[in-house]
Amino acid sequence: MRYFLLSFLLFLSTGKILSQSLDYARDAVNILASDSLKGRGYVENGDKLAADFIRSEFEKFGLKSYNNSFYQELETSVNTFPDRQSVVINGKELEAGKDYLLDPGSPSLKGTFDVIPVTVDEILDNAKFVNKLRVSSGQLIAVQPFDKSDFTKEQNEQLNGVINFLKYHPQNPSKGTIILTNDKLTWAGSVRQNSNPTIIIHSDSLDGTLKSLKLDIKSSFIEKYTTQNVIGYVEGKNTDSTIVFIAHYDHLGMLGPQATFNGANDNASGTAMLLSLAKHYSENKPNYNTVFIAFGAEELGLIGSKYFTENPLFPLSEIKFLLNFDLAGTGDEGIQVVNGSVYKEKFDELVQINEVRDLLSNIKIRGAACNSDHCMFDQQDVPGFYIYTLGGIQAYHDVYDRPETLPLTEFEDYFKLIVEFISQQ
Ligand SMILES: [Zn+2]
Repeated sequence: MRYFLLSFLLFLSTGKILSQSLDYARDAVNILASDSLKGRGYVENGDKLAADFIRSEFEKFGLKSYNNSFYQELETSVNTFPDRQSVVINGKELEAGKDYLLDPGSPSLKGTFDVIPVTVDEILDNAKFVNKLRVSSGQLIAVQPFDKSDFTKEQNEQLNGVINFLKYHPQNPSKGTIILTNDKLTWAGSVRQNSNPTIIIHSDSLDGTLKSLKLDIKSSFIEKYTTQNVIGYVEGKNTDSTIVFIAHYDHLGMLGPQATFNGANDNASGTAMLLSLAKHYSENKPNYNTVFIAFGAEELGLIGSKYFTENPLFPLSEIKFLLNFDLAGTGDEGIQVVNGSVYKEKFDELVQINEVRDLLSNIKIRGAACNSDHCMFDQQDVPGFYIYTLGGIQAYHDVYDRPETLPLTEFEDYFKLIVEFISQQ
């Protein structure tokens, strides 16, 4: 009876904490992924606005900082698109982000150009391709849409090689490259500026034939941009070991004022998990020192986490376990655990808690993968998992990854799973 009463009270109190955690996470996502944070990139100080919000939350929770600052500054080069872009076909202006993207390394280009189409069959035939390249000199070369599954692995490799040549090689004689595609448009960041621009156009946005293109695309390459990681910690009951939670807060920023990449799932959601845990452990003293790191410049190639692991604020050897949250906003189909098979005992603990508490529908195991910030810690032999949620929305690295469509379906259960897992360490 007493046991029953105790668990009933625990149930009530954790229920309250958890619904508060969902409300808090929702608010945090709405702020981090709002248009006013500019896609947390390098246009209009998006990264600094986001970092400032995280810092103020850390301060509010009473987290401690290293060296009297929650910031760890670092420098990177970055290609940015602060200005309005214009891509006009047959008198119709295309919409940035929805109809087209620019390769993130694109330089500026202005003018009206003929479009020289090149088919996949021509690309796969060296003599024909070389001839097409010659004809496209000073104009735009346009790779026609194709379905990867129609080609063998070797053919796909050859196609990729040619497309990479067109995009990145200074000896491409054309003024720029157009890639016509039937696939979803997916953007990225770039620390370089290429010699020629590439415009990726979704084939649904074309009416009629593409004979010429009127362009006014503008980019701005910044050689030395100062961005920052945001780092705070809570002292534990036991101070000889450290638990580390990480999430990148940066995203892709803007493709001119017309297209903001809000990055709700990637990774306002993971940052909200980081902040929710910071709030939780500031109110409930953890067993071990617990560090919260919001990394910058992940989308530029894990630059913030690379800098941190090269310039750690405490010995990395003290880390007992690390959890990386990147894409925490769904969970309809459970979660995927990168490094699950590397740290199989820890993975089994997670599964055990999940079964006993009946939280998520599925916990999938995966090996090592260098696809987010945990990778830099993997390389230093720091034990840890990268966890991402599965199912739900398909928006990713596009203008549709917005806060109003982010479900946060399993956020509470995911949060609960993490808190219980950490309490067993
Ligand atoms: Zn991400």
